[in-house]
Amino acid sequence: MIVRGAPQEFECRVGAWDALGEHLERRGVKRVLVIHGGVSWEKARRFFPDLTGVDAIFEPYGGECSFEERDRMVALAETANVDAIIGVGGGKIADLAKAVAVYLAMPVVILPTLAATCAAWTPLSVMYDARGEMLQYDIFARSNALVLLDPMVILDSPIELMVAGIGDTLAKWYEADVIISQLAERSVEIDISHYTAKLCRDILLESSAAALEAMRDGKLSEAFVKVVETNIMVGGMVGGFGDDYGRTSGAHSIHDALTVLDATHHLLHGNKVAYGVFVQLMIEGRPDEIVALTPFYQELGLPTCLHDMGLDGLSDAELVRVAERATAEDETIHLMPGVITIATVLGAIKGLEILMAEVRVR
Ligand SMILES: [Zn+2]
Repeated sequence: MIVRGAPQEFECRVGAWDALGEHLERRGVKRVLVIHGGVSWEKARRFFPDLTGVDAIFEPYGGECSFEERDRMVALAETANVDAIIGVGGGKIADLAKAVAVYLAMPVVILPTLAATCAAWTPLSVMYDARGEMLQYDIFARSNALVLLDPMVILDSPIELMVAGIGDTLAKWYEADVIISQLAERSVEIDISHYTAKLCRDILLESSAAALEAMRDGKLSEAFVKVVETNIMVGGMVGGFGDDYGRTSGAHSIHDALTVLDATHHLLHGNKVAYGVFVQLMIEGRPDEIVALTPFYQELGLPTCLHDMGLDGLSDAELVRVAERATAEDETIHLMPGVITIATVLGAIKGLEILMAEVRVR
């Protein structure tokens, strides 16, 4: 296994973006391509500092982190002769900026505007096709050069994306633990991964409600900064130290499988992963843990079942497609103990609907 613990440099503080110019100067960067979003950029641009001594080209991304979009950005970067890539936005923009930078063997700087995933931290890009179906993820041999996290930027971001980030990061514990607890012996790297995964769950269960309240009030708080750093940094360390033992297992396979259905494309990544945690726990035969987590899910608005995602109308044929994809040969669901078949997943999905219908009545 390979440890990729952290970006080269990480700063989290109010006003962190103001140091961008200094950081670029320290790195000898003269020209940059800034990849940004649409709505998120409208909000974020007032935080983006004036860069003196650095030429910046700004380009909005097309909405997906796809190979086509990477190639378009690579061509722009080459034409403009830049020497670094900056990504300002959420996970897809971070992933796109990393993919472009790696292709060009350049440093990448990430200024997150959301705390929805650990994409700002991790040296990997999840690639989608132009329709939004997930293709693969590529792990890179170089760390992100710099991550500047300003909690004030995130405070102003959509709450539902923070909630999705909490769902995605809570999954770190369940996905890493189900793999790591099968190991007879654990290296120190694996212990760090397991510990940070547990930290994700503990901090999120403890502080999420207060963090969301801070967002609604527009007031920075300790709980809020903790949750932001957990989603971005602690979550990133789980896979950073644990590699395949700390990356994904059941929940993300369920997420990946859901993306084959157009009806799920409007749902946020982290929400589908949170649902995947429950399906994974059904497969593990742990309904008690599901029932214990349900009040937390409901308080935050995370989906506990297909019904909560408005997907209770899915046909049996569609559910079979999901179960087939979830159990495809290369899916990480097979890192869970036992043999996981299409029937296993189908049974878990249907069993969860029945369980949650009972919990709702209670
Ligand atoms: Zn995820």
